[in-house]
Amino acid sequence: MSRPIEALISPSAMRHNLALARSRAAGARVWAVVKANGYGHGLTNALAGFGAADGLALVEFEMAVRLREAGWRGPLLMLEGAFDAADVRTAAEHRLSLVVHEPGQVALLSERPSGEPIEAFLKFNSGMNRLGFRAEAFREAHARLCALPTVAGVTLMTHFANADLPGGVDAALPAFEAAARGLPGPRSLANSAALLGHPSTAADSVRPGIMLYGASPFADRSAASLGLRPAMTLRSRLIAVQALVPGDAVGYGSAFVADRPMRIGVVACGYADGFPRHAPTGTPVQVDGRRTRTVGRVAMDMLMVDLTPVPSAGVGSAVELWGEAVPIDEVASAAGTIGYELMCALAPRVPVTVLA
Ligand SMILES: *Cc1c(COP(=O)(O)O)cnc(C)c1O
Repeated sequence: MSRPIEALISPSAMRHNLALARSRAAGARVWAVVKANGYGHGLTNALAGFGAADGLALVEFEMAVRLREAGWRGPLLMLEGAFDAADVRTAAEHRLSLVVHEPGQVALLSERPSGEPIEAFLKFNSGMNRLGFRAEAFREAHARLCALPTVAGVTLMTHFANADLPGGVDAALPAFEAAARGLPGPRSLANSAALLGHPSTAADSVRPGIMLYGASPFADRSAASLGLRPAMTLRSRLIAVQALVPGDAVGYGSAFVADRPMRIGVVACGYADGFPRHAPTGTPVQVDGRRTRTVGRVAMDMLMVDLTPVPSAGVGSAVELWGEAVPIDEVASAAGTIGYELMCALAPRVPVTVLA
């Protein structure tokens, strides 16, 4: 018997979510964002789910090469661009498109007088103040890139800081449009939140990530209400049951104390599996088909659950940590984080099963 925890990955949920993104994108091309190992779902699994995308976008060059080796012939967009000259050579060799967000990256491209031309995605800083050029430098960099024989074409892009909020692109979108006015080339602006919340940002290509994995980009709208299906289920089983009397404590620090007789279950899942240690007592969990709550501190290999609503449960009972029954966004919110972080943190020790 192996430890009962496993992650189930559903390429069919990914296909469904990609089709939904496309239906909202008003004819725009769809880049499926697969950085961070496909948001923790596995790069090959992401490829299985997003084969119908117009392109894949990521930040890791090793992973881009791996996608080529796995047979992906379509466009690949490197969202942080080249980190050094070797990356530019890799981009030329493997036909990777490069974001250009900073003057040093323009220099890297201009230091290459010949060779296979590379597609550039010139990034405008629309207020996040993380990556990208402000208006004047943006237009200057555009002119320099267009003059390079080794640059195949220049797409104008930006990334919104507040697309998950109402009115969140009200300043950023006009700022982009003003900076890009009169410049030739396709436009790419929208992440999941912009695509769903501000459809006027769809432009020529969109770059959804989180929605394709079935989680919500919004704090106040569930994935299900957006028509999304979770692509990852984390499940395990009870490996022990304890009967508590009032005053008995549970787990490290005795953080939970029973105020009545109760049964608690011990789940083979802990923070070393990727379950957030900060998830407090009350974090939702499903046991034996019933929704209940965690109690006490999450440990490295175990967490405890309240079996009061599940009298049928015993050692071996099925537990869903997140998935169809327990949205990952609810677990994340209880733990003070977002679904993105939980997906990406799925630990390598958790065996992954890919569903049909
Ligand atoms: C990660 C990323 C995205 C995808 O964002 P989601 O919120 O996951 O949809 C889009 N564009 C850029 C530049 C990114 O870095």
